[in-house]
Amino acid sequence: MADFSKHKFGTKAIHAGADADPSTGAIMTPIYQTSTYVQESPGKNKGYGYARGKNPTREALQKNIAALENGKHCLCFSSGMGATDAVMKLLRPGDEVITGDDLYGGSYRMFTKIFENYGIKFHFINLSNADNIKKYVNANTKMIWAETPTNPTMQIIDIEACSTIAKANNILLAVDNTFASPYLQNPLALGADIVMHSVTKYLGGHSDVVMGALIVDDDKLHEQLYFILNSCGANPGPMDCFLVMRGIKTLHLRMERHCFNGKKIAEFLKTHPKIEKIYWPGFTDHPNHAIAKKQMRDFGGMISIVLKDKSIDNTFKLASSFKVFSLAESLGGVESLINHPATMTHASIPKAEREKAGVVDNLLRLSVGVEDVEDLIEDLKQALA
Ligand SMILES: *Cc1c(COP(=O)(O)O)cnc(C)c1O
Repeated sequence: MADFSKHKFGTKAIHAGADADPSTGAIMTPIYQTSTYVQESPGKNKGYGYARGKNPTREALQKNIAALENGKHCLCFSSGMGATDAVMKLLRPGDEVITGDDLYGGSYRMFTKIFENYGIKFHFINLSNADNIKKYVNANTKMIWAETPTNPTMQIIDIEACSTIAKANNILLAVDNTFASPYLQNPLALGADIVMHSVTKYLGGHSDVVMGALIVDDDKLHEQLYFILNSCGANPGPMDCFLVMRGIKTLHLRMERHCFNGKKIAEFLKTHPKIEKIYWPGFTDHPNHAIAKKQMRDFGGMISIVLKDKSIDNTFKLASSFKVFSLAESLGGVESLINHPATMTHASIPKAEREKAGVVDNLLRLSVGVEDVEDLIEDLKQALA
C-alpha cells in the first residue's frame, strides 16, 4: 500500500487508498460485489468473513477519506444519518450532549425524536460563541456536536475554541464537516475527536449516492465505532463506495470551482434590490468571518438569502422559476440547486424553533454548482426580475 500521507490534497484525492489491483493491475479499485468470503477451514480466512463488517472496495474508500482528513481511521456508513446514529450510540442513558441551535434538520430530528427517547439529553445552543458551552457543561456532559458552517444560516463555529473546552472537561468533540468538505476544513487538526461527513454531498459530488463517513485518530474510538457499524448494520454497498472514490478524484477541482462561483454569486446577490440579507462566510462583515478565515481554506459555494418580500407564496414562485438551478434538497453536487429550508430540509423543526434560528419562510438556500458562473448569474437575474 503506497503511502500518500505526505502529499498535497489533490494527489491524495486521486491516489490515497487506490492501489492498482494486485491480481490484474487494474488502475481503478474493483467493485467487490460480494456478501461473503470463502474460508479455507472454519474461521481461517483472508481477513474477510462477511461483508457487513468488511469489504475491500469500502476499505479503499475509507483509506482515501482518512487521508483527506489527515486522520488515522475512517468508517463509511450507508448515509450521513447512519454515521451520526453510530456516534450517538457511544452514549448511555443520562448522558448529555451540547449542540448547535442551527443544525441539519435530520440531525435535530434524530436527536429529539429518537435519542431523547433513550434518555439522552440535548442542549441546542448558539455555538458561534464557544463560551456559551461552559454554562451547559456538567458531570453528565459527554459530547459536543458541532456543525460548521451551519445549515442554512452559515454561522461559523470556532472548532479550536470548542476543542479547548471539550478537552478541559473530558468531553468528545464531534464535528459535522459536510458543508466545508475536507478540502476546506480539517477538524481533527483543530482538536476534534470525530469528524462526520454526509458523503452524499461534496465528497460524492455527483448527486448519485447517499453515504456517510466518520474519521477519527483514536484507536479505541475507532474500535467502538466499528463495533457499532458491524453490530447495527448501516454499512454502504461496494458499488456506492466505487462511485464515491470516482467522485473524490475531482474533489479539489470541483471545490475550487464551487468556491469561485460561490464568491461571484454572493457578490452579485449582496447588492440585489430584492434581497434583504445574505449569509456567506466570505464577506468581511460576516460576524464570524475572522474564524472562517482562520479555520477554512476558502469559503465554499453554500449561500443563503432572505428575500425582502416575506410572502411564502412569492418565495415559492421564485424558487420554481429557475432554469439552470434545480429546486431540490441536498447540496454539494456539480449541478446548482435551490432549496426552501422551511418546507424542505428543515421541515421537521418546529416553526418557532426554526424562526429563532433565522430559518424564516422567505429564506432560500443555494448550493452553487460548477457550471459556468455567467449562466448561473443570468438565471438568478431572470428569476429575481
Ligand atoms: C445531508 C446532511 C446530513 C445527512 O446526511 P445523509 O447522507 O443525507 O444521511 C447531515 N448533515 C448535514 C450538514 C447535511 O447536509
